[in-house]
Amino acid sequence: MNIAFLGTGIMGAPMARNLARAGHDVTVWNRSAEKAQPLAEHGAHVAQDPAAAVAEAEVVVTMLTDADAVESVMREAAPAAPAGAVWWQASTVGIEGTERLVALAAEHGPAYVDGPVLGTKGPAERGALVVLASGDAEAVQRCLPLFDAVGSKTIRLGQAGEATRLKLVLNHWVLVVTDGLAETIALAEGLGLDPNLFLEAIEGGSLDLGYAHLKVPGMIAGELPLAFPLKHALKDAELVLEAAQRHGLDLGLAPALRDRFARAAEAGHADEDMGMVVEASRTGP
Ligand code: NAP
Repeated sequence: MNIAFLGTGIMGAPMARNLARAGHDVTVWNRSAEKAQPLAEHGAHVAQDPAAAVAEAEVVVTMLTDADAVESVMREAAPAAPAGAVWWQASTVGIEGTERLVALAAEHGPAYVDGPVLGTKGPAERGALVVLASGDAEAVQRCLPLFDAVGSKTIRLGQAGEATRLKLVLNHWVLVVTDGLAETIALAEGLGLDPNLFLEAIEGGSLDLGYAHLKVPGMIAGELPLAFPLKHALKDAELVLEAAQRHGLDLGLAPALRDRFARAAEAGHADEDMGMVVEASRTGP
């Protein structure tokens, strides 16, 4: 298929690469051109602007920071997309953002597929993401070969918006676990214990978690390879909070998590991996 891929950051670049590898005709665009250029080595065409990227696309994919970024790029691109094109919106944009983008799609024509993904840099590189897909059934159907190229599993839901709601549920869990690990490390250190004892004690039991073994050593060291920027975790914490408030839910952890990630961002960790939220628990208020 002819695919336009807009946004080749941490997630977008490996996703676009896997689409090209699967034999699709991929055109990429990124605001900072130097992040799109290396994809030419993998057979992708590099476009100079979003409108040029989508000119012949059967499917337009957006993988950008947030709803504002997606909206500004698609205001430029959508009018240039061919009639009958499908728009797979893969970024995490929340409930209000999805409503805004669905309206933008309706204004310009492309059928909207609400398709956020679960999994981080490593799974994106391995083509092992979990794609959450909702929207017009025929449009979702047309995207299935693309989902197979970037993911190991697709969960199909109903109307556009449902996949985004599930994505918020999953990201709430990721935020809870990451900050839970951060505070557990900080507590152990504060009590004069080696925090590795925590991992040793839970290993193999029903409270063990693969994610803990992946993240905790780097969190203890205060050095983590960048997989999920902390500033995006803060954005997601705000999206979860917005969703909870909209649905009249009184979640205790959601506001606390937002404040934790905000504090770590203000302390200079915004562009580092989300696991650096541990620093917000190591320092006093
Ligand atoms: P990233 O590396 O920071 O990439 C963000 C992309 O958005 C870059 O291409 C950036 O362009 C572009 N962008 C930002 N603001 C823009 C604007 N105003 N106009 C045009 N382009 C703009 O982030 P990422 O980790 O790939 O995440 C992308 C999306 O996927 C986010 O919604 C994130 O929450 C979600 N997500 C991330 C992960 C993860 O583990 N990383 C997992 C699942 C979902 P520049 O290169 O020019 O800055």
